[in-house]
Amino acid sequence: MGFKIPVSSPIIDESDIKSVTECLRSGWISSLGKDVENFERDFSSYHGAHYGVATNSGTTALHLALASLGLKAGDQIIAPTFTMIATINAAEYLGIRANLVDANYKTWTMDLEKVEGKINVKTKAIMAVHIYGHPENMKIVNEIAEKHGLIVIEDAAEAHGAEIEGKKIGTFGRVASFSFYANKIITTGEGGMNITNDHDLAERMVWLRAHAFGRGGKHFWHEELGYGYRLSALQGALGVSQTKKIDTFVKKRRSNAKLYNELLAPLAERGLLTLPFEESWAKNVYWMYSILVNEKYRNPLMLHLEKSGIETRTFFYPIHRQPYYSIRYTGERFPTADRLSNEGINLPSGNALTDDQIQYVCKEIENYFNSLGI
Ligand SMILES: *Cc1c(COP(=O)(O)O)cnc(C)c1O
Repeated sequence: MGFKIPVSSPIIDESDIKSVTECLRSGWISSLGKDVENFERDFSSYHGAHYGVATNSGTTALHLALASLGLKAGDQIIAPTFTMIATINAAEYLGIRANLVDANYKTWTMDLEKVEGKINVKTKAIMAVHIYGHPENMKIVNEIAEKHGLIVIEDAAEAHGAEIEGKKIGTFGRVASFSFYANKIITTGEGGMNITNDHDLAERMVWLRAHAFGRGGKHFWHEELGYGYRLSALQGALGVSQTKKIDTFVKKRRSNAKLYNELLAPLAERGLLTLPFEESWAKNVYWMYSILVNEKYRNPLMLHLEKSGIETRTFFYPIHRQPYYSIRYTGERFPTADRLSNEGINLPSGNALTDDQIQYVCKEIENYFNSLGI
């Protein structure tokens, strides 16, 4: 707010307004009615999945997925320490401990060479996070999971439309959780969705999503602990119109990244910053366009950009450093995640970003380094 160039702003156009307005006029504004179902169908089939179960946030999607898979207190999961807090909180709500794994310095996803060392008899699942839009290497994740009999879940909150060898993420594990928060690649304001090819799991998620109503022939009869995680039809209607534009938004984010990469290449060649990476097998959707800068310069550069009206963000603080969680990981070291967290900057990345704005941001980054005389 107040910035000339915000770090992320969505595009809400007339087709979105029309879709939501029609929903309002129809009177079907709860989760019942056609809009949520249409959104679930369109979004899941876009990612090549049979079933979609919409929820009111990405966090509740993750929580619902873990609960519906039958994970419970005392179980453990493998997860990256370099992720957004909700990945781990969703497990915490169920009393599930996350065994954290350090990051890969190139792709910023989990360092898969360190996963097997963290698996023990209580481990039930691997949570793969496609961080900042770069897909995790799901082939390797699945190999490890198969060898140890583990369930695979994708936290795809930042990676709508990302691909691995030409196939969309979202069906490499048993279930994938997405977020539609306002800064994500498509948005419903707040919202989330689980997609899966597992029919029974989808049914169970639908049932637990809405209070586990109506088994045993009686509506107000609850055989299990359900949740109040429904998405409203207003949000579903926005989801339907936004889903039509995923390809456009992904293309936009990739062309923005390409322009950033071109304009920042001279600074990268001088060793002043590191550009984001894309594996040869991967389609990165650049949810955030991010760079790494030596920690000596990171905060001063962010301050310089702020003074120039450019909003930026630091990277996530890794989970093992979060005040709520740190006590559990005191004996462990995660040097790469620490380094990423100290060096990373998210530059303006939203769907509404223009070429002129990217040019201005890059010019100001150059001005900062020039002012240092290096
Ligand atoms: C945004 C995000 C979430 C949570 O989504 P909300 O809709 O904000 O609850 C979970 N995991 C990751 C990796 C995210 O980026």
